[in-house]
Amino acid sequence: MLTIRNVSKTFGDTPVLHDISLEVAAGEIVCLLGPSGCGKTTLLRIVAGLEQAGAGQVLLEGRDLAGVPVHRRGFGFMFQDFALFPHRNVHDNVAFGLRMAGQSREALAGRVREMLALVGLAGLEARQVHELSGGQQQRVALARSLAPHPALLLLDEPLGSLDRTLREELMGELRRILRQTPAGSDEAAGITSIYVTHDQQEALAIADRVVIMNAGHIEQIGAPLALYRQPATPFVARFLGMENLLPGQLVDAAPDWLVATPLGLLRSTAGPAGATAGDSVLAVARPDAARLVDLAARDEENLVAGQLQEVSFRGSQVKITLSYADSQRLVFDLPGHAAGELPAPGQWLQIQLDPAGISLLAR
Ligand code: ATP
Repeated sequence: MLTIRNVSKTFGDTPVLHDISLEVAAGEIVCLLGPSGCGKTTLLRIVAGLEQAGAGQVLLEGRDLAGVPVHRRGFGFMFQDFALFPHRNVHDNVAFGLRMAGQSREALAGRVREMLALVGLAGLEARQVHELSGGQQQRVALARSLAPHPALLLLDEPLGSLDRTLREELMGELRRILRQTPAGSDEAAGITSIYVTHDQQEALAIADRVVIMNAGHIEQIGAPLALYRQPATPFVARFLGMENLLPGQLVDAAPDWLVATPLGLLRSTAGPAGATAGDSVLAVARPDAARLVDLAARDEENLVAGQLQEVSFRGSQVKITLSYADSQRLVFDLPGHAAGELPAPGQWLQIQLDPAGISLLAR
């Protein structure tokens, strides 16, 4: 539905986007994910028409959008700087785009009611915006952007201003709402959306596909689970919270991947396409791959013994830092209940790594 073709952008002498190409299918939720300054917002603003690309094209259903002004593109926005009107009530805020489109009073009231029900605020039409909580205000902003049946919804850090609890609550719900909002003509598909965030959890929870950006280029594109299982580069692995990157050499390749690492031989269930024994790889042991085993356990696969450096209890999880080979560190998240079984920092413990929790990257 939307095609971004070889888009580049420079501000002054600073290149911000390098030759970005991306296709977004109808009904798809695509998240642009990356650290601050990687160019996500600039790319979104180019799609919106708020910024001009230095080179390349943006096409909507094959039609080049060059020269089409923002208000003619028929897109919806949920940007932090498009704030609600604080001195108007909920109805007037949600109705804003509809009124601009010249809808009748009845049609307008019906659509506002429908949108408020969708975002879980049924009946709050008359409430003043400043009387709402932060989370409720974000729901009103979402209802306002969805009300005029946009062809494409663009969201830039829509949950950025909320505290963690509210963010987590809205994360799951936002996906449901976007899925349930019929796209203009096609009643079966959800609305097509591009969603910018720097929060990996948010992107994984909301997207059909995640585009990981780094310094103005695309590092990897994939479905959330596929990215998590098989990050393509060390940057992607680290950005998704995988800190345990071990250099290694393949001893055996598909279907039974075996890699020699500084931790010993590790078995993994997947590896890079085309890799063969002898190849250099990076083994990524994901934070959730470990379980505690008895220090006396022997002759089992993927055992790792290390000295416990730090223990940080986080409720449902306990984060442990192990050291091995004097200075190297490994970080894992164990289930919270394991905290009671942990020795004191300074003592040794043994963990076993699930082969499905180890990804291998080509080097
Ligand atoms: P953040 O999450 O912090 O918003 P981002 O990934 O969205 O980051 P952009 O806002 O797209 O990144 O910015 C990319 C780079 O372009 C940054 O280095 C930023 O300073 C620069 N930049 C953005 N807008 C302008 C502008 N109007 N003029 C000059 N430089 C700009």
